[in-house]
Formats: sequence, structure tokens, C-alpha cells
Amino acid sequence: MKLIPGFVCSLLALSPLAHSASQTQVFPTSAGPVSITPLNHASTLIEAGGKVIYLDPAKPVAFSGQPKADLILITDIHGDHMDPDSIKEISKAGTDILAPPAVVQTVTSAKPIANEETKTWQDWTIEAVPAYNLKRGPSPGKLFHDKGRGNGYVLTYGGKRFYFSGDTEGVPEMRALKNIDVAFVCVNLPYTMPPDEAADAVKAFHPKIVIPYHYRGSDLTVFQKGLEGTGIEVRLLDWYPK
Ligand code: ZN
Repeated sequence: MKLIPGFVCSLLALSPLAHSASQTQVFPTSAGPVSITPLNHASTLIEAGGKVIYLDPAKPVAFSGQPKADLILITDIHGDHMDPDSIKEISKAGTDILAPPAVVQTVTSAKPIANEETKTWQDWTIEAVPAYNLKRGPSPGKLFHDKGRGNGYVLTYGGKRFYFSGDTEGVPEMRALKNIDVAFVCVNLPYTMPPDEAADAVKAFHPKIVIPYHYRGSDLTVFQKGLEGTGIEVRLLDWYPK
């Protein structure tokens, strides 16, 4: 099929969903392919084995017309990660929700998964990795994300390990991760970490592929430069469709 570039571009401009789909990354595993689609900022769609998983579904993503969730994973309490309206919109009978205990206080249908806990769901293994600030906060002595509250997740399926950092700085628990195939790492100030620090943390745990997300306003060329020559593949996706 011959594609006319101008036609494709105007289609993308009209439809944020089509734009998101064009960003879908497909990763082969021993249990079949895992497709990961950036929706917006931290909101991510993961599909494998006929099951639909959303990570941090939140506004401004329009979920009408999107597939309903078999599993929803939430990382933290802030509105860009925990959004009861979006959760309601993509839920169906039987949707499972896993979230940090602090989120379960609001999203009461969620089951708690705490830092360092591991659970299995269908063919997935889900490990909760601590996500927190080391030094950044709204005022002296305070942190945007206190240790113990938020989760990053390592999701294993068919032998492949996918890491989603949640909102965090380059904490020791991230730097100590092992055998990560694909890492989604947050990059933004003031809430998480700048691109040079993110690159340094990624270097420490050396995933095969890294995809920066949750990066609004950040200069990703700095992140790319910081990982040059390491053998880590940096993939840049558009997480902020117009
Ligand atoms: Zn956030």
C-alpha cells in the first residue's frame, strides 16, 4: 500500500488515538508479543495475550472508544497517576486494580501492593519498586514523593522485564535493578529528576532499551547524550499528542 505522507499527517492531526497507536512499541517475548502504547504523560496502555492493562490512566486522555481494562496499575496519589474518573471510564465487571496502599484509601476497589511486594496477575509477575524523592520537594524539609508511598513496577511477561519508574529520583532501588529489557523512566523538574540525573541512574541499571516518559518540558537531548556510548538504546516517543 502506498501512503501519502500529507494524508497520514492530517489523519494524525485529527485523531489523538491514531497518533498514540502510531507510537505503539511491540516487544517479542516467549509468551507472545507485548504491545505498549504511550497515551499521555504517564498514562500507558499495555496489551498482551488478549489482555488489556493500563498504567496510571488519567486525564487528558479520552478513554471513550479505548478497550476496557483487565488490569489497572496505579503508581501514586497525584492526579496525573490516580484519576478516579478515568478508572471508572475504562473499568468493566472483573477489572482488577493494583495500587499502593495510599491510593487504595481513595480507589477502594483497588488491591494494595506495597513497596518491594511481588504479586502475580494472569501471566504477569508484578514487583513494586520504591519510587520517591531524595531531595526535591515543595519547601525545605518536604519532599514531593515520600519514600514508601509510591510504586514503580517491574512487570515480567514471557521472560521479558518491563520497568515503569513512577515518580522518583534515581534512588538506590532503581539503580540496583537487574535484567531490565525495557525501562520507562520519568524525567521532569521540579517533581522528579532532570535529564542528566535520569541518564546517570539508567546507566547504573543498564536496561537494554530506555524510553523516557513523564518528561513534560524536559530537554531529552541531554538524556540521549548522557547515554551515548553505553550500548543502551534510547527510544524517544511523543507522550504529549496535540
Ligand atoms: Zn507525576
